[in-house]
Amino acid sequence: MTENLVIIGSGPAGYTAAIYAGRAQLNPIVFEGFSAGGIPGGQLMTTTEVENFPGFAEGVQGPELMKQMRQQALRWGAQCITDDVIAVDFSQRPFVITTDEQSIKTHAVIICTGATAKRLHLPGEELFWNNGISACAICDGANPLFDNAEVAVVGGGDSAAEEALYLTKYAQKVHVLVRSDRLRASKTMQNRLLSHDRIQIHWNCEPVRVYGDQVLRKLEIQDIQSKDLTELFVSGLFYAIGHIPNTELFQGQLTLDPLGYIHTEGKSTATNIPGIWAAGDVQDHHYRQAITAAGTGCMASIEAERWLAENALLIESATMNLSLV
Ligand code: NDP
Repeated sequence: MTENLVIIGSGPAGYTAAIYAGRAQLNPIVFEGFSAGGIPGGQLMTTTEVENFPGFAEGVQGPELMKQMRQQALRWGAQCITDDVIAVDFSQRPFVITTDEQSIKTHAVIICTGATAKRLHLPGEELFWNNGISACAICDGANPLFDNAEVAVVGGGDSAAEEALYLTKYAQKVHVLVRSDRLRASKTMQNRLLSHDRIQIHWNCEPVRVYGDQVLRKLEIQDIQSKDLTELFVSGLFYAIGHIPNTELFQGQLTLDPLGYIHTEGKSTATNIPGIWAAGDVQDHHYRQAITAAGTGCMASIEAERWLAENALLIESATMNLSLV
């Protein structure tokens, strides 16, 4: 048997693709992944309050938002399987998707495997993750913890510059910790960063330890050359040291960009192989928001439905399971 559509990944992109594909009667199969402790839902499962997802005027907890998206996908007949895809074969049609448990054939695939924010895993970091330490200022910067406080951003690229500038909306002072004597960010961003009177750059240094009680209170940083230690009394620590797109499975089979993200064509979510689309952070290092991931998940699903129909590959099912699970 060959499936219409397999969706790999269970963040906002994956579930949105599943909702649209379910409603289009494609009977999608979603491999939700198991490696995050068997907890599907992607990066939002490790955040707390999401305040910028439209439709939730009072905000919504990340895990609750993902639970609702999953329920909605199930309601429209998506089959969600909590399993990791361990191999794909895009060299033959139908494509073959393999997990530890099974191999299935499918005419179409939407890849929504996301990206993972790099962290430093400092001593004490786990205690304050989402309670002062974060990898997304746009998601977490408005937390009252940072109101008029001092915060630190690690990194010297465009993300670090963008996060530091964004955090000046809330924090009284932003320390940017750069591990070398130069910024990797674009000239424009560098100028904005260097000319801001509430941003202080600390060159040639790295954070080595975090301290606090219920919340983050202090950060110890070390001069890379002299090894001298300095304390910064900050309520927030934001990592902006890059993301790793989760594309290992697809290397050598799909065209990736120089940063390792899946290359998609123009305004579409099409990859270089017809019948395979990519949505969400796995193909977007620019916006990286739940809402943009959901938007591209929707696009991918519509494109998949049209492609299946145009190529007479659609397997219609009269026995769709529309019961709420
Ligand atoms: P980058 O790889 O460009 O920068 C990462 C930064 O983190 C570098 O300064 C790097 O230092 C530093 N870093 C990496 N590892 C460590 C570590 N272990 N400890 C301390 N510092 C570390 O990543 P970005 O996320 O900033 O950007 C990714 C891409 O997205 C870029 O192409 C960027 O231009 C683009 N982007 C564009 C934006 C825009 O146009 N508005 C906004 C955000 C991103 P070092 O330089 O020493 O390696």
